[in-house]
Amino acid sequence: MFDSLSDRLGNVFDKLRGRGALSEADVRSAMREVRVALLEADVALPVARDFVDKATEKAVGQEVLRSVTPGQMVVKIVNDALIEMLGSDTAELNVAVNPPAVIMMVGLQGSGKTTTTAKLAKRLTEKERKKVLMASLDVARPAAQEQLAVLGRQANVETLPIVTGQQPVDIAKRALQSARLQGFDVVLLDTAGRLHVDDALMGEMKAVAAASSPTETLLVVDSLTGQDAVNVAKGFAGEVDLTGVVLTRMDGDARGGAALSMRAVTGKPIKFAGVGEGLDAIEPFHPQRVAGRILG
Ligand code: GDP
Repeated sequence: MFDSLSDRLGNVFDKLRGRGALSEADVRSAMREVRVALLEADVALPVARDFVDKATEKAVGQEVLRSVTPGQMVVKIVNDALIEMLGSDTAELNVAVNPPAVIMMVGLQGSGKTTTTAKLAKRLTEKERKKVLMASLDVARPAAQEQLAVLGRQANVETLPIVTGQQPVDIAKRALQSARLQGFDVVLLDTAGRLHVDDALMGEMKAVAAASSPTETLLVVDSLTGQDAVNVAKGFAGEVDLTGVVLTRMDGDARGGAALSMRAVTGKPIKFAGVGEGLDAIEPFHPQRVAGRILG
């Protein structure tokens, strides 16, 4: 992940560090190279531009240019700007409410939504000792409900029994009722996905949200789709009250453009990264660690 960005930035900074004094022109030229490196990593153009403008403004300050280690200071400025772009702090899941806390999972078909639902359920069960119930509201895809049940058995997490013919809002209500009666702490609702963002999908999501009052509405997007992932997120954020994003397939994403632009473009934090097919392959997204990895 981020390998080529990391290499490119490493080269830019090596050049800076190799020099004693830096002129304003040196800094500006280095920042132009940073911008190219970000664009090659598929960072959205306005985000890259804003990043470089802000970082340049700080880096051409007299304090930096007069310091004994100006190169070091420029690296620090870029590091801080990266952390800011990625969202500053790790965004926690909000499940500390009167139970059951409802987490609604939304996203396009094939994004990894159902797998991510099971991964989060397993994590909440094992790491936070929560009693978790999962329910699939995907009545459009024939095997979807069964797929979640299979994952539930693998993850040792209960799934709501399937009632054939029941509609999404009613399934959500039944899930909440079961959770209240049986003392579940968290209910994860895996909503239906479609191939495109469309009115039917959004309408169904809003109806489910109105019926279940989720504390978290997490959008699952495939990081491999780069800027498309960011655009999908923008589309969803305009329709529902997203609380965060889960980026899947980060294990195969060499460039990292979606991860780098998501927060700046959508205003929504990346809460988790999917890093493999297994049910344990999910990690909280730590902006500082990611920035550290990029800058080596
Ligand atoms: P859905 O249609 O959005 O519910 O997608 P699924 O959960 O069925 O996932 C589609 C495929 O992507 C499955 O083969 C998953 O194992 C795979 N997948 C999901 N998340 C990840 C991930 O983080 N990394 C990798 N490598 N594969 C993933």
